[in-house]
Amino acid sequence: MDCIFCKISRHQLKSEIIHENDKMVVFKDINPKAATHLLVVPKKHIISLSAVKGGDWKVVLEMMRTAEKIVKKLGLAGHKVVFNVGREGGQLVDHIHLHLLSGSKVELP
Ligand code: AMP
Ligand code: ZN
Repeated sequence: MDCIFCKISRHQLKSEIIHENDKMVVFKDINPKAATHLLVVPKKHIISLSAVKGGDWKVVLEMMRTAEKIVKKLGLAGHKVVFNVGREGGQLVDHIHLHLLSGSKVELP
């Protein structure tokens, strides 16, 4: 499948991964909108928040838990988490991801 976030999660495309386990990968956004701008991405290919069904809601919960773990690990004083959903919602990559932003000049991605 030609999906950049699937490729990153399979290490077929280079990225700055800061956390990884069997279900999730967290890496630096290539075009940061804040001092810290990370993407929390499940390894399972789900298109968007609006495409989540049934048991996949567990994946969404795990994304949020992972974000909070990273916040604590990095000692961030405050942060913003954002899902862009669909083109009209600003979503450009059709693989669900949670933006985690913190620090100076936070802009919505
Ligand atoms: P969205 O607009 O919500 O779909 O966000 C996609 C995000 O992915 C954008 O903030 C991009 O800067 C980021 N992005 C795109 N390609 C890469 C890549 N190869 N490595 C890291 N981040 C990327
Ligand atoms: Zn994908």
